[in-house]
Amino acid sequence: MARLIFITGGVVSSLGKGLASAALGALLQARGYKVRLRKLDPYLNVDPGTMSPFQHGEVYVTDDGAETDLDLGHYERFTGVSSAQSDNVTAGRIYQTVISRERRGGYLGRTVQVIPHVTDAIKEFVMADTGDVDFLLCEIGGTVGDIEGLPFFEAIRQLGNELGRDRTCFVHLTLVPYIETAGELKTKPTQHSVRELRAIGIQPDVLLCRSHHAIPEDERRKIALFCNVRPECVIPALDLSTIYEAPSHYHHAGFDTQVLRVFGIDAPPPDLTRWDSIVSHLKNPEGEVRIAVIGKYIQVKDSYKSLSEALTHGGIANNVRVHMDWIDSEIFDRDDAAVYLENVHGILVPGGFGERGTEGKIRAVQFARERKVPFFGICYGLHMAVIEAARNLAGLEGAGTTENGSPRHPVIALMTEWAKGNQVETRDESGDMGGTMRLGAYPAALTPGSHVAEVYGTTEISERHRHRYEVNVGYTRQLAEHGLVVSGWSPDGRLPEIMEIADHPWFIGVQFHPELKSRPFAPHPLFTSFVAAAVQQSRLV
Ligand code: GLN
Repeated sequence: MARLIFITGGVVSSLGKGLASAALGALLQARGYKVRLRKLDPYLNVDPGTMSPFQHGEVYVTDDGAETDLDLGHYERFTGVSSAQSDNVTAGRIYQTVISRERRGGYLGRTVQVIPHVTDAIKEFVMADTGDVDFLLCEIGGTVGDIEGLPFFEAIRQLGNELGRDRTCFVHLTLVPYIETAGELKTKPTQHSVRELRAIGIQPDVLLCRSHHAIPEDERRKIALFCNVRPECVIPALDLSTIYEAPSHYHHAGFDTQVLRVFGIDAPPPDLTRWDSIVSHLKNPEGEVRIAVIGKYIQVKDSYKSLSEALTHGGIANNVRVHMDWIDSEIFDRDDAAVYLENVHGILVPGGFGERGTEGKIRAVQFARERKVPFFGICYGLHMAVIEAARNLAGLEGAGTTENGSPRHPVIALMTEWAKGNQVETRDESGDMGGTMRLGAYPAALTPGSHVAEVYGTTEISERHRHRYEVNVGYTRQLAEHGLVVSGWSPDGRLPEIMEIADHPWFIGVQFHPELKSRPFAPHPLFTSFVAAAVQQSRLV
């Protein structure tokens, strides 16, 4: 039966709870255990799919088509375990479940209440499908004390009680700030945060304390005393130069060892070779390439979390550091693109939504195509490449996407029907915003002999999607005549999945999001190949 590790946070948000959970998962895995990670999000949206990237950062999509919190991306990158719909739930979805059960008469006339009905639904979610794992790590979003979080904290408290101390462990992440004027580290916020947790009945077993400065032994003892934990369970988590250092640093600070001790397990040490090699590649690159990422949500780095990680992974594979220039596409509405793109070795246009900034992206594609700079278009980036080629190569004036109105040539358009296996799925323009996209893993067939087939080393792939609009097949023949060719199709041959230009060092646009499946220890072939092309380019400029 699975043992449960709950990870909560206190003091402030953004301390890296997701990363800490992912790193702990990686450490347990490196000791030979089977792990699974889950995230409980106390906000009321049913899922993060309808939230703006400015609000919430990236929406991470799983193989089974769930739109989830970006922490699931960390979990997958650190453990390689694919997550699913059943690994992320929000308060909104929990309430939706409870309320629809109530409407169906499922509570047999009883008064429906937070305790026990909402808490039971949370517990059901946490415990579902955990039979085959050794450890389930379950992160609670937000910080202790948030009103919305209370039912979740109550539910995990109950689970701790029901399953017993030898099957549950509570980890609490806090901040130990350094006060410049006093020249001191302060433990009080941690004390208060733990007091809050204990007030709702949860005694943490292990404290992970984020700090810019080393936490001296005395301070650790003080925290231990006030928070009622053993001193060796006060684990310092200092700032790191790369997130991939987290597993080995946390291990050396005793994190996984103390967690296992809570369960009474004395296991042999983890094998950290994989992580040491990733860190040494990242710290000792043989060169550097500059990639321009032309986006819209660039102020919020979390909006492109998986993308920047995938580029970093491509760098690991090529032994170079990938320097990313985050460029707001609207700049190209005003200035000549060349100034910003002259010295870059690759241009990437990532996914996006809406009209703002699109003309700038189209200009950046044109620059990449004409100046033969490696170009990678992802989802909306593919759409921009198709519009650019339609207008500037095929002479289709007024080519555009129906996402932004009614263009004269709708080269990107809404497809109302597509096949998933034997099933026909439909999409309705006036339907709900949530869950109306082509979401999750779809297979694609690559054209033998194409550039992408060479990059992947196979002609059958499966990648994750998240979009409403598609390349309009009515225009693909005309685009091919001008050099932009479909080189990957949905298996039924109805939806273009990949397009490329042969007469160019590296020009590939994909309808899906390859960045979601890249791992530091298994960089995605498209990113490996794109960065390799950028290395070639860096030798030219
Ligand atoms: N806005 C486009 C669509 O909905 C592309 C989405 C994306 O880039 N993920 O089809």
